[in-house]
Amino acid sequence: MATDAYKEAVEELSKFLSEKAGLQSVAVAKIKQLTAELQELKSGACDPVEKMKTGFLHFKTEKYQKNPELYGALAKEQSPKFMVFACSDSRVCPSHILNFQPGEAFMVRNIASMVPPYDKTKYSGVGAAIEYAVLHLKVENIVVIGHSCCGGIKGLMSIPDDGTTKSEFIEQWVNICANAKNKVKSDYKDLSLPEQCKHCEKEAVNVSLGNLLTYPFVREAVVNKTLAIKGAYYDFVVGTFDQWDLDSKVSPSLIV
Ligand SMILES: [Zn+2]
Repeated sequence: MATDAYKEAVEELSKFLSEKAGLQSVAVAKIKQLTAELQELKSGACDPVEKMKTGFLHFKTEKYQKNPELYGALAKEQSPKFMVFACSDSRVCPSHILNFQPGEAFMVRNIASMVPPYDKTKYSGVGAAIEYAVLHLKVENIVVIGHSCCGGIKGLMSIPDDGTTKSEFIEQWVNICANAKNKVKSDYKDLSLPEQCKHCEKEAVNVSLGNLLTYPFVREAVVNKTLAIKGAYYDFVVGTFDQWDLDSKVSPSLIV
């Protein structure tokens, strides 16, 4: 039965391609991709070179070559309206969950999607990205997205009260949102650790929104209403996405 269906499918494809010779190169790319996927299925392993090759081939034939106008324009410049902070977690890619297309979102991804406060020495990488997004690209929105089951937030909530750390970098990094941890530990002291983490995943976003305002060029753009700052939370367990605006009364006197 399966063999008949297979034969029928192959015959149909051959017939179609003999009539539409122009589509043969597209068919070759797709067949190669299918072969690689089947090989992966059979071996149960992932060949990293093959994985990237077939991935790029898929992107090139399905997107790049089908949208010459978009990719032609993007070859000249980018003018994204969004800057997005998201966690490095492999399950929360903003391009997938929010359908951002190339050119639409300037992104920073790090452990627990945190924005550190303005500090030229300790956090110059993040500072450079924010400066470029706000002053050069003139993005209109900065969105910080927290997410469910965040390992970084669990790490933050698990730092003992005496502040001892076990990692080289991780705990020092997530401690950027220590205020979120302290608030949750005090407001929800009777909850279990997983429940406290859930609250902290959102509270840490609010700390990051506050930290964004420590960058003078961000404050100025917010006061001038050319930039909006938003918090968001993606729950991949139940499949929901919530967003909220920065609820702060930023007065012009804050401008440095
Ligand atoms: Zn995370």
